[in-house]
Amino acid sequence: MEKRPHEHPFQAWADTLQDLGVMGLVRETLTLPALPALPVHVRPTEPSLHPVASRATSQPRPPLVQVPVTAALGSAYVIPDQPGARPSAETVAGAVNLADLEGCIQGCLACPLGPGRFRFVFGEGNPKARLMFIGEGPGKDEDQQGLPFVGKAGELLDKMIGAIGLTREQVYIANVVKCRPPDNRTPTSQEAQACLGYLRRQIELIDPAVIVTLGATPLRELLGVATGITKVRGTWQNLVAHRSIPVMPTFHPAYVLRQYTDDVRRAVWADLKAAKAWVDEHP
Ligand code: SF4
Repeated sequence: MEKRPHEHPFQAWADTLQDLGVMGLVRETLTLPALPALPVHVRPTEPSLHPVASRATSQPRPPLVQVPVTAALGSAYVIPDQPGARPSAETVAGAVNLADLEGCIQGCLACPLGPGRFRFVFGEGNPKARLMFIGEGPGKDEDQQGLPFVGKAGELLDKMIGAIGLTREQVYIANVVKCRPPDNRTPTSQEAQACLGYLRRQIELIDPAVIVTLGATPLRELLGVATGITKVRGTWQNLVAHRSIPVMPTFHPAYVLRQYTDDVRRAVWADLKAAKAWVDEHP
């Protein structure tokens, strides 16, 4: 296959899709101007302008109390010298919608990531999305804006979503942990497990038809699959939640940006197509 010079990684992405014979779809959904005119997601930087955040902050917050961490909120994780402030398991389980849930957990300090965050990153998207993406945790840009996947990896995720004919507003995007790990390191299992009850309640409230996990961390922490992402991606998994939910693991967009090979791009494309097909077949 003849290699073409690429002005921008997304151009290469689109070229690959064209090579795969899907350019008709991509041309409708991707606009690929040369840098620096690449369209970026326009989002409010002021959290109070964000619809979910606005609703959440308008809710009266239940008090944060020191409670035993129950199985419903992940493993028993007690942080020395921390107040362990988090809502009770009953409060989390009783959240009636996403805004309610965000309102009751956004002051959480139940793991060491809490005190270091600038903004809490709850998640974003359609509260009744059929397709849900779950990543690892907020990075620097996400921590600054309080929104998931807003950096370069987020731009690529937007393009990936667009390539299957959807918009960011039609899906839901969340992370395993809601506070930024320092230096963008991978959250520890203890941190992830401390936060997992929140994500599980989020999944229950959204009730997606399919979940796409991005990278190894959600696969390991949410599904307990420790096998490498390279081996597991593209193979259907099952999340036992309020009901059984099919899960399609794929590479994290940040990994795709680092390993920008035809093989990686085609693998992600195949995974997303499989997830979208499931959604279409199970209306
Ligand atoms: S990462 Fe999760 S458990 Fe840790 S402080 Fe933030 S919200 Fe709480």
